[in-house]
Amino acid sequence: MTRFISAERSEDDLLEASLRPRALADYVGQEKAKGNLGLFIDAARGRGEALDHVLLYGPPGLGKTTLANIIACEMGVNIKSTSGPVIERPGDLAAILTNLEPHDVLFIDEIHRLSHVVEEILYPAMEDFQLDIIIGQGPSARTIKLDLPKFTLVGATTRAGLLSSPLRDRFGVISRLEFYTHDELAFIITRSARIFGMEIAPDGALELARRSRGTPRIANRLLRRVRDFAQVRADGVITRAVADQALALLEIDDMGFDTMDRAILLTIIDKFGGGPVGLDTIAAAISEESDTIEDVYEPFLIQNGFLNRTPRGRVATAAAYHHFGRVAPEPPQGRLF
Ligand code: ADP
Repeated sequence: MTRFISAERSEDDLLEASLRPRALADYVGQEKAKGNLGLFIDAARGRGEALDHVLLYGPPGLGKTTLANIIACEMGVNIKSTSGPVIERPGDLAAILTNLEPHDVLFIDEIHRLSHVVEEILYPAMEDFQLDIIIGQGPSARTIKLDLPKFTLVGATTRAGLLSSPLRDRFGVISRLEFYTHDELAFIITRSARIFGMEIAPDGALELARRSRGTPRIANRLLRRVRDFAQVRADGVITRAVADQALALLEIDDMGFDTMDRAILLTIIDKFGGGPVGLDTIAAAISEESDTIEDVYEPFLIQNGFLNRTPRGRVATAAAYHHFGRVAPEPPQGRLF
């Protein structure tokens, strides 16, 4: 099954690199993050300094990597990209840091997955632009300090809460990315269609937008699948009707839920009486990783009022029951709170 909502970048996403806006002015939506960053970039450029370290957080596919690249572009510097799990040893990070040019951007995706020992190297590097290297072992071990060029660390994470506080505190700019509105996604879809040389009607773009879970990566993936359908089954133009038929074939429902969203909600409703039920229990019941459910699926379901996170576990809301044509159970009587 094609996963439209997976966190991983698929081969498809290599194509997506061509869809990435390169300037802040072309980056759709996220007005708050854009406003802040624009100001800090102008100020840093005006002073001829490196930009302060930036932490971007939010669900996958909302444009963190894109924004990191735009920051480098706007600052007129190079970007080196890596990710938390890839940097296994302190030496790996030291090699990256010592290869940076002044004011370069170092982008670390999934920064919450850095190991503790690697993180410790990062503290003095971010704060004092120094690298503390330990040479030798035991009593003869000594630390030498290496000066690093002033650089900008741009970290991305799906959950800022997973970052240790010493690391979080070292970021001067912290921006949360939000889900996109339907109009913003329709704009992104229309722009992507133009780049791919596809014809899409405004109502077709809006229909795709409505069913993209507020996420540009999903919007772009759906657009490509729907294009195939339009080419083979229709006359190539993506209208609302064509989008609708193609999405039905892809099992994307009216809310943009795919099979996994439905499995999560229906498991809570049918197997656990609507909840509360623990995340791990849901994960075991649908054979999916808890982390994936929490990072990739839940944010949209919670934000749109289909799921509640309570101290005792996950609960399906009345809106979730309604979506599946079920009758929500009456809330327990006799309890005020
Ligand atoms: P993340 O790093 O948050 O997982 P990406 O930056 O890789 O997300 O974004 C996924 C895709 O969505 C990108 O390839 C880009 O084409 C598109 N995209 C993301 N944000 C925007 C935006 N604000 N405007 C236009 N396209 C966007």
